[in-house]
Amino acid sequence: MNIALIAHDSKKELMVQFCIAYCGVLSRHNLCATGTTGKLVAEATGLNIQRYLSGSQGGDQQIGARISCNEIDVLFFFRDPLNARAHEPNEMNLLRLSDVHNIPVATNIATGEALIHALERGDLDWREIIRN
Ligand code: PGA
Repeated sequence: MNIALIAHDSKKELMVQFCIAYCGVLSRHNLCATGTTGKLVAEATGLNIQRYLSGSQGGDQQIGARISCNEIDVLFFFRDPLNARAHEPNEMNLLRLSDVHNIPVATNIATGEALIHALERGDLDWREIIRN
């Protein structure tokens, strides 16, 4: 499965801890991420991650383009709900595209836990079947 990771600055440490905790599951999939998120997770876990541009430079749109092409199966996007960002419209579009293409998305750690367990159990394997 193709999995995308994005974390706002205040959620990056949470994303790193999440990926350390579930490194075993994540290592069985193809991972991509926005620039800084990918760098921090790769350094902490040794996971192989395709890194796009930083979110503020368009990395979220690069992931959005892959979602549009049906190339992403799951999105972990740990958002900071309290602080506005300049590229927020792009992020809203990323979430819109995820809904258009029925991508399972976790925007917080609680849903993240549920999704990673679903991934581990194979509950989301239908995504790969549909894609191929
Ligand atoms: P980053 O992008 O991983 O490059 O920081 C995510 C974001 O927009 O915060």
